[in-house]
Amino acid sequence: MDDCHGGRDTMQQAARAAGKSESLDRLLTDYPRGPHDQPQSMCPAFGSLRVGLRMRRTATILSGSACCVYGLTFTSHFYGAKRTVGYVPFNSETLVRGQLYEDIRNAVFETAKPENYDAVVVINLCVPTASGVPLDRLPKTIDGVRIIGIDVPGFGVPTHAEAKDVLAGAMLRYARQEVEAGPVARPRAVADLPTITLIGELFPADPIGIGALLAPMGLAVGPQVPSREWRDLYGALDCAAAAAIHPFYTASIREMLASGRRVIGSGPVGEEGTADWLEAVAAATGISAGPAKAHALPLIRAAIGENQIDARVTVSGYEGSELLVARLLIEAGADVPYVGTACPKTEWSEPDRAWLAAQGTHVQYRASLEQDIAAMQDARPDLAVGTTPLVQKAKALGIPALYFTNMVSARPLFGAAGAGALAAIVAAQTKGRERFGRMVSFFNGVGTGETAGYGWKDIPKDPPGSKDRYRKAREAKAKATVAVGS
Ligand code: SF4
Repeated sequence: MDDCHGGRDTMQQAARAAGKSESLDRLLTDYPRGPHDQPQSMCPAFGSLRVGLRMRRTATILSGSACCVYGLTFTSHFYGAKRTVGYVPFNSETLVRGQLYEDIRNAVFETAKPENYDAVVVINLCVPTASGVPLDRLPKTIDGVRIIGIDVPGFGVPTHAEAKDVLAGAMLRYARQEVEAGPVARPRAVADLPTITLIGELFPADPIGIGALLAPMGLAVGPQVPSREWRDLYGALDCAAAAAIHPFYTASIREMLASGRRVIGSGPVGEEGTADWLEAVAAATGISAGPAKAHALPLIRAAIGENQIDARVTVSGYEGSELLVARLLIEAGADVPYVGTACPKTEWSEPDRAWLAAQGTHVQYRASLEQDIAAMQDARPDLAVGTTPLVQKAKALGIPALYFTNMVSARPLFGAAGAGALAAIVAAQTKGRERFGRMVSFFNGVGTGETAGYGWKDIPKDPPGSKDRYRKAREAKAKATVAVGS
């Protein structure tokens, strides 16, 4: 996704000139840059789109170039959205004359029917953001339907993970202001116990597992952020404390803090991680963690004991849970020399960074693909866990590799369930190392570089004299251009 929007600096200048300085400054503060300051994976706006599409009674409308919208719509359906993605098209004329804003406004009025929706979300992609399409001028509510307009340009939001926070944070802010203004609807499922709000998209069994960890403290898990229904936002705000399991949700955390909630970093991974996390919950709520630790830690210790990992593993990804995964791998016995995350450094992952550093692991925030690959080549691990391009590179080198997203989003990570599930998959994959080595030596360069493609045995040759003819033609054209200009 490098420069798919035609140059970050140019687009930022255009956006500022078009009156978007405030919006851009907020994005640049919330999602600071680093060695990796450019999306190297899918379009960031996918994160916001996904959060909108997963919410009940919420319409999501994109405003952007048709090619971007095509890609985003395709990806959302590939991931099983089963929901309509709204789109307001534009051309140079409607963009330049301001008609695009009017078209968006009309689309919002047409869509905002209270019998169908609680909220309508409009997402400005790169070009409308750079052109200053003022979504903040849309009405805040139409017939009781909330209208939320956000800018999510690729030149302002570095990863799709952080784009989830852009929308989740905007919704929490809206809901917090509603709560401050007066009574609001009751969340559908209200726990009798004080709750902990989990921040981040988790594997579906994880909130249940974390609920079991908290039960001996007389606490329950509340509605998550990102939420599945508008009224859940009120339940998420109404918590005893919030847990930033995914530590990059800066805007959402800001809303929690503005509601007077304490926020806890890290997550309950492995034995030490769980003990520390339960103590952090205790510090935030004033409830002793003793009974919860006495219940959970022996189970986790046993699960780790039964699932030991004897392998060197490098971890890289863009989900935001990379540090937690590395902690669990190390507790299970793995040697993890390197963890790269595309997400930025925040205070909420600091306990994990410090723990990993104490084990001798190098933690790279805002890691670029190039850094991840260099670390893998340097460490020569038994298993490389990473993004798609890293996995491709690893396999070409004969290193067993696993796609991070599939591994993390398809199995539990926390408590005893996480300890068992992660170790099993790592053990299965590292067994393939010898087989990979045999495959690489068997094919010995076949199908790579100049020999890629069917039917070529030798390096293809240029037709005789062709390069010379093209050079002469280019020189003649250049001369003719100079002659016309002089
Ligand atoms: S919205 Fe921006 S980052 Fe996303 S695909 Fe379009 S140009 Fe690329």
